[in-house]
Amino acid sequence: MIQHVAAAVCTLYSVAYSGYFLTHLARHLMCGFRAAPPPGTKAAPAPPLAPSASQEEAKEEEDSSELPAVLGDAGELPSVPGDDSELPAALGDEGEHPALWEYSGEAPAAWDKDSGHLPAWDEGGNIVSVEEPAEKYLEVEQIGQGAFGTVSKGLDRATGGEVAIKKMSLRGQNGEHAVNELLLLKDKKNLNIVNSLDSFLVGGDLWLVMEYMDGGTLQDVVRQTRMAEGEMAAVSRECLQGLDFLHANRVIHRDLKSSNILLGMAGSVKLADFGLCAQLSSEQDRCSSMVGTAHWMAPEVVTSSPYGPKVDIWSFGIVTIEMVEGEPPYFKETRAMARALIRHNGTPQLQEPRHLSALLRDFLECSLEPDEEQRWSAQDLLQHPFLSSAKPLSSLTPLITAAKQLRQQQRR
Ligand code: ATP
Repeated sequence: MIQHVAAAVCTLYSVAYSGYFLTHLARHLMCGFRAAPPPGTKAAPAPPLAPSASQEEAKEEEDSSELPAVLGDAGELPSVPGDDSELPAALGDEGEHPALWEYSGEAPAAWDKDSGHLPAWDEGGNIVSVEEPAEKYLEVEQIGQGAFGTVSKGLDRATGGEVAIKKMSLRGQNGEHAVNELLLLKDKKNLNIVNSLDSFLVGGDLWLVMEYMDGGTLQDVVRQTRMAEGEMAAVSRECLQGLDFLHANRVIHRDLKSSNILLGMAGSVKLADFGLCAQLSSEQDRCSSMVGTAHWMAPEVVTSSPYGPKVDIWSFGIVTIEMVEGEPPYFKETRAMARALIRHNGTPQLQEPRHLSALLRDFLECSLEPDEEQRWSAQDLLQHPFLSSAKPLSSLTPLITAAKQLRQQQRR
């Protein structure tokens, strides 16, 4: 009986593998026929890539590769009406990824995961403010809800300035994300990273006070408007500056997507939401847990291979596709199916490649290179000629305004 089952498994595996091999062989042959790259760029516009895995093939792989989800205890994630494909997932062995505090000298070692207790003070000094948040900030309204907490708009009572207050539970795995974000924002200041202003302990929750980004998220813009290439180049340059800063500090964001890129009305562009980020070190320069949001995950993440900062470059390439098409590839598919398609197809196919300039197609190809070694770094991409077509950041203002108006109309 066992022998029969083993034989059947071997046959299935060899059939699946030969399909995979043929797909890749076809891709290599097509790559061999590419035209010479434009000067200063990596390659000519992408030819149509390997055909998508059939639904059945993908399902088969999905079933065989299901990993234990450690999203937390059931019910930990807020239920989101409609599509749930944008909820970040942290799959794999809990604690496998190097969270920030594991390497930080000022680690809040006394943070207790079960009770959620985090001391306001530790040997390294002040972790959070010891004042009453209500004395310093007036809460105005809730503006956002993510997987790890709620975000409200507030006013600084002393200056009248607007702030965003993100409230996260310190208990369980959510607490891990909260402490991660606290440490990252406390330490890493950059023009393209959302700035944290204050933090408080309120009951079992951590309240992070950040600069208020009054333009909403890039997701609002990509969904509601059509961006010109010069505007995409401007946003791309700002995101890459933020990523270059993180990667130079050996931090991987791991959940880059348009809803985690915040905009200011004047056109500032900042990376946000660092709950899933990882700190690398000279001892540990790779991660391996499947972390992120499915449709934005790099091939090395969905195949559970060890990975480094270039997973953010892949996700950034997907954000660029969002700017072009309004949504990431495979958006209509379930998360498991999206992961299977990323694994099978490598570089995703564009819906209308002919409508894009050769430079943008090349820029996309450099970011969405399935081979991590060949994929460009943030620093490399900052030199890509596509970015020289960037319009001034102020050109984003009309897009942000239009996106806001359309959203308001839809709410009515
Ligand atoms: P996710 O589900 O993406 O992991 P999260 O729980 O970590 O979400 P955030 O993504 O940080 O939460 O925030 C949720 C929403 O709140 C954002 O999409 C955005 O609309 C709003 N928001 C967050 N930070 C700010 C800010 N600094 N200024 C203005 N709005 C903000």
